[in-house]
Amino acid sequence: MSKTLFKSVLLQSAGSKPCRRDVLIEGNRYSKIAESVPLECCQGAEVVDGKNFALMPAFYNGHTHAAMTLLRGYADDMELSKWLNQYIWPFEAKLTADDIEIGSRLAILEMIKSGTVFFSDMYWHRERTMNVVEEMGIRASIGVTISDTLMTPEGLKKSFDFLKNHVGESERVKLVLMPHSVYAVSLPCLENCVAAARDDNCLMHIHLSETAKEVQDCKAQYGCTPVELMQRIGALDENLVAAHCVHFTDADMELFAQAGSKAILNPCSNLKLGSGIPPIAKFMEKKIPLGLGTDGDSSNNNLDMHEDMKFAALLAKVQGGVECLPAHDALKMATENVATAYGLNAGRIEEGWLADGLLVRLDNERMAPCHDLISNWVYAADSRAIDSVICNGKFVMRGGHVDGEAEIVEAASACAHRLANVNN
Ligand SMILES: [Zn+2]
Repeated sequence: MSKTLFKSVLLQSAGSKPCRRDVLIEGNRYSKIAESVPLECCQGAEVVDGKNFALMPAFYNGHTHAAMTLLRGYADDMELSKWLNQYIWPFEAKLTADDIEIGSRLAILEMIKSGTVFFSDMYWHRERTMNVVEEMGIRASIGVTISDTLMTPEGLKKSFDFLKNHVGESERVKLVLMPHSVYAVSLPCLENCVAAARDDNCLMHIHLSETAKEVQDCKAQYGCTPVELMQRIGALDENLVAAHCVHFTDADMELFAQAGSKAILNPCSNLKLGSGIPPIAKFMEKKIPLGLGTDGDSSNNNLDMHEDMKFAALLAKVQGGVECLPAHDALKMATENVATAYGLNAGRIEEGWLADGLLVRLDNERMAPCHDLISNWVYAADSRAIDSVICNGKFVMRGGHVDGEAEIVEAASACAHRLANVNN
């Protein structure tokens, strides 16, 4: 990839007929979008010929566990609690900070290559993942992950202090408080999280009502659903971004809608773990803000937002009729809605918005013929149609190539094989 030293980029004539446009990126924003942007207005800009490309919004992955790339294919075809307790958590116990850096690097490579420029990450050794995000040029909301059943009291204190001091935050990397779930965090610890998030006015992200068992166990322990429990402790507000949200009752949906909380759905992971199908059509009826995420590579088994977008669109039609979640809205769920949930002015190709985007090849066999660009992109194409990825005004992939990709894949494969053989 050529390392651009240009401060601005002029993308000429991108799109499909009849709406080709010139797009000027200055700094990290889209500064001018018009039928024609004269070259004199863009002195010193790198000029990119866009005639073979459509400029599409990039994807924003609302829920994942990046370094779990190392566990891809390690344990499949079993239900969540067996999968977690017998395979995933014992494997994760062996992971060092170095391993997590290697796994995160593979995840970010995978995300860039499939058009994703942001991810929300709930995992461990957050500093190492933050460094890789900075290095590879994309954005992330990095979790200060909390679980008093999986962490020591010292580890918990360190995490709360980390959040309070905003350690390592930057233009592209922000911290989000992430209690794991109502089953892996005690009630007093959840209450501490609510207080810490409120003091800091930061977002809180949690796995919520992912499986029927989680809801049953919560009812047995607390006499209410996980959503009702969140309401009871004051966690249900516009700063809550919840993942999964598969087993919501009608009353849960009412509470969620009234609070202005956001749901990040992970249909591929839910289907693969047999956890259920998120009630997309019902959420839409209640006008609950919906975004999409992939979940981790060990339950999806990839980080390709395009797949979750298409699954969401198809599942919604089975639930709510064929007119439910048209292509344009499905694309929004995978782009702008996630960016908005995480406080980013991004996910649209519009003047003043953050300059993130994808150059999608119009000569890709799945993009032709082009009766409807968005329809092709959502229903027909896959990530092979992505030529280049722009994040924060800079190319992070060009011509399908990311710097150092062969080494990243090799290092992650070697690391995962070594871990799989430790103590086995
Ligand atoms: Zn998850």
